[in-house]
Amino acid sequence: LRLDGVPMFGEDDAFRGMLFLLQDITAIRRLENMRSEFVANVSHELKTPVAAVKGFAETLLGGGVKDEELARSFLQIIYDESERLNRLISDILDLSKIESKRSPMDYAPIHLASFCSSIMDTIETVAKKKRIMLHSNIPEELFVEADEDKLRQILINLLSNAVSYTQDGGKVELIIQDCQDAEGTEKVLIKVSDTGIGIPKKDQPRIFERFYRVDKGRSRSSGGTGLGLSIVKHLVDQHHGEISVESELGIGTTFTVELPMLQD
Ligand code: ADP
Repeated sequence: LRLDGVPMFGEDDAFRGMLFLLQDITAIRRLENMRSEFVANVSHELKTPVAAVKGFAETLLGGGVKDEELARSFLQIIYDESERLNRLISDILDLSKIESKRSPMDYAPIHLASFCSSIMDTIETVAKKKRIMLHSNIPEELFVEADEDKLRQILINLLSNAVSYTQDGGKVELIIQDCQDAEGTEKVLIKVSDTGIGIPKKDQPRIFERFYRVDKGRSRSSGGTGLGLSIVKHLVDQHHGEISVESELGIGTTFTVELPMLQD
């Protein structure tokens, strides 16, 4: 609580009394803490790839270029870390745009079968490299009212995580169905399942937080930024939808997104 007091004077400059303001600043403080924690996280996340780029470049400049094989592997690291920086910056910008509500919704009816088939084609390239089988099941007649770019980002983030966190030779599936909730509202259920490494029970409630990763090393080596799922959560919220996760270690994971079929 914060207490502020100011003396009050009348027109004749005589003291009339005090005005006290008692404010509950818990919410403001919490917001300030969250903001400074975010800035600290962002700085840390940006510093790691920058330090790697700098370190490997220094070694090359200090004579490492003479060994061609070594130089190539260092240049590859510098290239990969720059790519990571790029992804980080664009994810941070996306997140801050969504969080500050500077990203209005542009609803349109979307034919899910054709929309998803182009997304599956994009994911196919990565999946092929890991011999991961991609499968989708989407009723031909299904439409949803959504923001096309945002729905694309939701699906791409979930599907690329599924591919990243699944071993070679595994399976990733996209299933979409329609259903009605208890009030009779029409919904679209989007399920992204994989036969991957799974998420421990204790981590499941936290994976939608910014920069939260179950295994930092694995996320880094798969090129992750730790922001994908928190972006997904925000985009689902913007559509007035819900997202949930079911997962078993070593068996696989299913993310379910529930969106209203029509927006009011
Ligand atoms: P990242 O960029 O690290 O993938 P995300 O926000 O997309 O960040 O995901 C947060 C964490 O949740 C990941 O680091 C990973 O540990 C876990 N995760 C997300 N999707 C899956 C999945 N399909 N299978 C297993 N773990 C997952």
